[in-house]
Amino acid sequence: MPKPIIGITANVITLDNGADRSAVGTDYITAVELAGGVPIVLPVVNGRTAIECQAELIDGLLLSGGFDVNPLLFGEEPAEKLGYVYTDRDIHEIELVKAANLKNIAVLGICRGIQLINVAFGGTIYQDLSAVSGAIKHMQNAKSFMPTHTVEIAARSLLYSIFGNSIVTNSFHHQALNIVAQELIVTARAQDGIIEGVEKPGDQFFVGVQWHPEMMTSRYSCMVELFRRFIWAAAQ
Ligand code: MN
Repeated sequence: MPKPIIGITANVITLDNGADRSAVGTDYITAVELAGGVPIVLPVVNGRTAIECQAELIDGLLLSGGFDVNPLLFGEEPAEKLGYVYTDRDIHEIELVKAANLKNIAVLGICRGIQLINVAFGGTIYQDLSAVSGAIKHMQNAKSFMPTHTVEIAARSLLYSIFGNSIVTNSFHHQALNIVAQELIVTARAQDGIIEGVEKPGDQFFVGVQWHPEMMTSRYSCMVELFRRFIWAAAQ
């Protein structure tokens, strides 16, 4: 069987000289290849035809991390502590999620990706966790592969079949899911209740995680296993 093509959504990074670059973190690329997929980069495009053609090319959609989602897209005005937004990317990814959903393409959303999935299906985001009472530290001050907080996982979920009932993950987010879209079920939470994983019930592999498994693959085989399961589903 040919290896599945995994489209990784790109960010638009502005260099110090002002030039824009479409880019993805190399950890995503490495993780996909390690787990048996063929990574390709999906740059931000805005034409509907171009987005649909991107979706036609891929067997799996990996929504990578990045800037904050524009709150106007989930019906809120920007809060004081909202970070940088780049709306073209938000719209690109929302359209890709909808196309992947229609075509039954496997989807894995990471960090911003879990938030984007939720917004694509009509959910909302906490714009900054400082406004959530009792929230623990979710922007860790430690190496990127270093696990820093506990994540508890719901029984009988896909995440449970990989990680069991509890793991410790890294954490690099100042936002999180607030109102969860009806299509999704919460399958992982930090001990402060912050949502760390969602799944869409059904046959399609459709998972979002708030942590960064791609940064942990060199030390934690369970994180590789998450990518293997995604890529195995993409190959079907
Ligand atoms: Mn976290």
